[in-house]
Amino acid sequence: MRCPYCQSLDNRVMDSRFREGNNVVRRRRRCSKCGRRFTTYERVGDMHPAVVKKDGRREEFDREKILAGVRRACEKLPVSVEQVEEVVYRVERRVCDMGEKEVSTRVIGDQVMSELRALSDVAYVRFASVYMVFNAADDFEKVIHRLRKAKDAPAPRKSKEPPPTAKAKSAPSAKGRKKAG
Ligand SMILES: [Zn+2]
Repeated sequence: MRCPYCQSLDNRVMDSRFREGNNVVRRRRRCSKCGRRFTTYERVGDMHPAVVKKDGRREEFDREKILAGVRRACEKLPVSVEQVEEVVYRVERRVCDMGEKEVSTRVIGDQVMSELRALSDVAYVRFASVYMVFNAADDFEKVIHRLRKAKDAPAPRKSKEPPPTAKAKSAPSAKGRKKAG
């Protein structure tokens, strides 16, 4: 993306947002050269494949369904709306980039899972348990194991305070002494 002010190609995405219901993602960008901000609208490929369900039925690709699933998985976790939308955006783009006429729900589920795995173990496990699309049984075991390990590890926060120093004993006030004239 070229900066409309100075034509530099060097910029950073500040914020990404879907315009609900269509295939456009709106990005706020900041030019790294001149510092000005501009907005781009990127269209996800219109080549959405048909989705093949487990029972063989076909349905239209529906981003809202993926979004709902990811949202549910991330409920009450420290995951921002932007992060959720980015996950869905990347999954959608990758599925479209496959260039297939049809993809299975399993393939889409796998894409979501690999995104969630990078984002949050909890969200990953939740999504996996809802959609039952584990790559392998022991994959799930590994996640549980990792979660347990993380819980058992001592919390690093508590050791932040410096240990009390012996020096700090403040002497009781020296008022009691009378000054000799
Ligand atoms: Zn610029």
